[in-house]
Formats: sequence, structure tokens, C-alpha cells
Amino acid sequence: MDPKVVLVTGASRGIGRAVAEHFATLGHRIAINYATNEDAAAAALAAVRAAGAEALSVAANVGDADEVAGMFETVGAALGPVEILVNNAGITRDDLMLRMKVDQWDEVITTNLRSVYLCSKAALRGMLRAKWGRIISVGSVSGLAGNPGQANYAAAKAGIVGFTKSLAKEVGSRGITVNVVAPGFIATDMTDALGGDVTSAAAERIAVGRLGTPQEVASVVGYLASDTASYITGQTIVVDGGLAL
Ligand code: NAP
Repeated sequence: MDPKVVLVTGASRGIGRAVAEHFATLGHRIAINYATNEDAAAAALAAVRAAGAEALSVAANVGDADEVAGMFETVGAALGPVEILVNNAGITRDDLMLRMKVDQWDEVITTNLRSVYLCSKAALRGMLRAKWGRIISVGSVSGLAGNPGQANYAAAKAGIVGFTKSLAKEVGSRGITVNVVAPGFIATDMTDALGGDVTSAAAERIAVGRLGTPQEVASVVGYLASDTASYITGQTIVVDGGLAL
């Protein structure tokens, strides 16, 4: 596969960083987006460069239209038009429905779903011109099965699935595929925040018997971005170690 320009949102930590490192080992040029954590972004950038990739990091709130526009300008000027977009940035603001505040709802929908619309739209023009593109969004099994305390998060992640199917139909004939990777429990800061009791209980429900690693998600994202996966579009690939079985 020719070297491509890859933008990974939320790539300073966790799954996004593993995705950026995976693409770096394949010889692509990498843009690492993050929100505020400069130290983590610097560490991710160093790792990606150590893997031999031309790379930059760019701070931008992916839920903000102006910041997304600025990010695409920066990446375009430094590396060229984005050819592979990985919509990975995401947050949780969990609460049971009667306690869930409007802010918790809005923040999660904005960061996890509005961002996918903003970034995909920004990437699309260049992809249409190039007649080639890959848009891969990180969903969640919560968006497929639901999860108590995560109505906001599950709604955003289910929204990504509908968005992906619609866009896949719009651009399929133009060499652009649009897919979702839906992880189960993956060992990152996000699941660390749940505490050991919750993750141990989760591991018991997983056929593989453990949480997944960010790299186990990254390799599936890498596959969907490859030319080998050119006939897969509008799909949601679950990477959950058998949690949903
Ligand atoms: P994480 O370790 O908490 O990392 C989150 C990343 O998103 C960080 O790079 C963070 O940047 C960035 N981010 C957060 N808000 C942002 C914003 N407004 N604009 C730009 N970047 C932002 O998360 P993770 O566990 O790797 O999760 C990555 C994705 O996988 C998310 O979409 C999540 O919903 C999904 N997922 C995770 C799991 C899991 O078990 N971990 C399961 C299913 C789905 P800073 O470092 O600057 O804060």
C-alpha cells in the first residue's frame, strides 16, 4: 500500500495512540490529535516518530467546528490531505437516567458523535478528489447492546453506526469506505477509571477471559484501512473477546 496521510483523533492515549503507532509501522504519515494532555501527546508523537513515521500532533476539540476546521488546515499544510481518518476521540460521563444532567448528555453527544460528522465532512472533500479514502470510527458494544448508566454514550455510539451506513451508501462508488470498529472492554485510562472490581467482573463475562489491549483494536482498524478491505463498507466490526456472545 502507498504511504497515506492518516489523522487519528484522540491519539495521545489508549486506543488512538495504538492506532497511530500501528499506522506508523506501516510507513504512513501520521497526525495525532488530542484535546488537552500535552505530555501524553508528546509521548505519542515521540513513539510514532521512533517507528520511522513523519508525524505531527495537533490540539483541537473535535466537537468544535472551528477547531476541527483549523486542525484540517494544519494537517493539510504539513502532511497533505487526509486519506485515512480514524474517528477515535471519545469520553464517558456515566450516570443513571434520572441523575443524568443535560451537560452530561450534551458533552458526550458533542465529543463522541458531532465530532464524527465534523471530521468526516472535513476529510471527505479531499477523499472525493482522490477517489480513495477510508473513514473508520470507533464505536462501542454499548452502542449495540445498551448499558445501564450509559444512555448518552450508547446513543452517541449507536448514532455512529447509522451515520456510517448512510455515508457508506453516499460515497461507496467513489472509492471511499466507511466502517465502525466496536470494542468491548479494552485496558485504557477509560476502563481504569471504572476500578478493579468492575473490570474483574467484566473479564468473567468475556469468552477470552481478559480485557483487550489497544493494539488488538488497532490491528482491526489497520485492516479496514488497507486495500485488502476495499469491499467492506458500512459495517460494524465487534472487537470484544466474545463479550457479546
Ligand atoms: P482514553 O484512554 O480515555 O483516551 C481518550 C482520547 O481522546 C485521549 O487522546 C483524549 O485526549 C482524546 N479526547 C477526549 N476528548 C477529546 C476532544 N474533545 N477532542 C479531541 N480529543 C479528545 O480512551 P480510550 O479508552 O482509548 O477510548 C478511545 C475510543 O474508544 C473512544 O471513542 C471510546 O469511546 C472507545 N471505546 C473504548 C473502550 C474501552 O474499553 N477503553 C471500549 C469501547 C469503545 P487528551 O489526552 O488530550 O485528553
